Amino acid sequence: MTDTSQRDTSGTLGEMGAVVETGDRAGAVDWGIPAPGGAFDAHKPPDAALIGDCVHCGFCLPTCPTYVLWGEEMDSPRGRIYLMKEGLEGEPMDDEMVGHIDACLGCMACVTACPSGVQYDVLIEQTRNQVERHHDRSAADKALRGLIFALFPHPKRLKLMRGPLKLAQRTGLDRALRRTGLLERISPQLAVMESLAPRLGKPQPLPEYIHATGERRMVVGMLVGCVQGAFFPGVNSATARVLRAEGCDVVVPASQGCCGALSAHNGREPEAQDFARRLVDSFEDSGVERVVVNAAGCGSTMKEYAALLADDPAYAERAAAFAEKVRDVSEILVELGPVAPRHPLEMTIAYHDACHLAHAQGVRSEPRQLLEAIPGLELREIAEAEICCGSAGIYNVLNPEPARELGDRKAANIVRTGAQVLVTANPGCLMQVTSAIERAGHPMGMAHTIEVLDASIQGAPASALLPDQTAS
Ligand code: SF4
Ligand code: SF4
Repeated sequence: MTDTSQRDTSGTLGEMGAVVETGDRAGAVDWGIPAPGGAFDAHKPPDAALIGDCVHCGFCLPTCPTYVLWGEEMDSPRGRIYLMKEGLEGEPMDDEMVGHIDACLGCMACVTACPSGVQYDVLIEQTRNQVERHHDRSAADKALRGLIFALFPHPKRLKLMRGPLKLAQRTGLDRALRRTGLLERISPQLAVMESLAPRLGKPQPLPEYIHATGERRMVVGMLVGCVQGAFFPGVNSATARVLRAEGCDVVVPASQGCCGALSAHNGREPEAQDFARRLVDSFEDSGVERVVVNAAGCGSTMKEYAALLADDPAYAERAAAFAEKVRDVSEILVELGPVAPRHPLEMTIAYHDACHLAHAQGVRSEPRQLLEAIPGLELREIAEAEICCGSAGIYNVLNPEPARELGDRKAANIVRTGAQVLVTANPGCLMQVTSAIERAGHPMGMAHTIEVLDASIQGAPASALLPDQTAS
């Protein structure tokens, strides 16, 4: 999301014809006042001036996954912006409008593609907040969303799931259940949740303070994350090992919880703000110079805390100071420069850009730079790299069919690279792509960028990252 606080929006509405409040909110965003009876209330409706920035050129269309799938104007960025404009002008929030908004993956490929700098990221978040306040969802949809948000942003509850899940994986019960198709018949969404669960390894709890190897170069805080912490503890351990090897003291506050990304991306503004406040509290007195994140979706939201808490007098400044410190782990490692020797890893990898790293944070070169510096490693690019894999936070659970199509499309492009290992930097992408690659029947190793780097620094053999079938 981009800061809109410096925009001059006074009276600049293009074709909108709606009114913009210029009042006395000096330095604040000018929110349009929506027409009475329309889709939106006056609390941060989609910004009329940002809507007016769209010149309808259509350059964003080929990168939009839903437009690529269905070819429908209203399922393109341009179409959705048009719906927002209509809502501001008085169109009610009906099921059709919400359907097109819900179908957006929030992948932000359109933000990258747009030559006019349209801030669709800001617009979709504003619109989703309105949808969650005003749209009466079906009982089934409410129940599913209730289950997701009672579970995913709560690390302790997720960790409680590890025991039964691991038992099911060990005994083969998960695969047997999948073969019966029973869960699919009861609820396709629950079936997707089951199929996405990664193979669980050992829990790897981290101490609250980890000292740098050798001379200390920086003190960094580390976000453990919800899904990352519960289902990919090896990624967090690898992150801590690499950071300490590169001269960082690593602080892992035990009080930290969810960063609020899932809530922010799904229109649950008050909940996202609560999570953000608690995370700011956790890191505030820890003395860290940077806060390091290894999950793309979390990092993109944490970098936007200034906007998320801008209206909270007790937190606005503190949130802005916190957001300034947030870095993806690849950014911090490139900023520091390497000191730990890299050992060769003779293997080919395909690097998948997580949307919330590439499109939302603009972090593309750093992971590639780190991977390409590993001796023996060959990096291969994936065709249609800008198109989302269909994970998109909880999109693949809420919208299993298009997510599956996008996953299969991504898997086919990955397999075409001929690489042995797929590398990416987001737990959601890892789960989505692993599931799609399994469906494709093409065994591949799957790893987070930091796990590859860790293996190189530790001098681990390439076979540690390869699938059993291809390990030699
Ligand atoms: S965020 Fe992604 S899915 Fe949504 S309109 Fe933009 S490109 Fe399309
Ligand atoms: S590329 Fe930008 S200006 Fe062109 S239609 Fe898409 S959002 Fe509008």
